[in-house]
Amino acid sequence: MNRCPQCQMEVKPEARKCPHCQAFLDPGLAAQRQAEQAPAATEPTPQSGVSFIVQGVIELLFAASTLLLGWIVGALTVLFSIHFAVKSFRYAATRQEGSGGAVAGGVMCVMAAIAAAILTWLELERKT
Ligand SMILES: [Zn+2]
Repeated sequence: MNRCPQCQMEVKPEARKCPHCQAFLDPGLAAQRQAEQAPAATEPTPQSGVSFIVQGVIELLFAASTLLLGWIVGALTVLFSIHFAVKSFRYAATRQEGSGGAVAGGVMCVMAAIAAAILTWLELERKT
């Protein structure tokens, strides 16, 4: 007689499944069952690098729109751009996947922050 690795009860040598605890004794079957129960591993999906680039482009557009919408938009863009730039660079430093996109997005956010700051300053200067 063999022993079930799961519950330590005796099972027939030809048994593929333990009659006591229902564990699969055949390693192939056990692996197959495990794959069925846990589809595509539970690793958190890494953020795609493209999303950082999109964020960078959005921040640049906001920076440009300071010319139309005024200094409040510019000031907010400075804050948000810095926030997203920090987020992007942090992501790039800790993850492999999408880190290129994160760096590109972060650089665009920094540029957006600088542009928005300049436009905000010019806007306020013109008013006073
Ligand atoms: Zn068992």
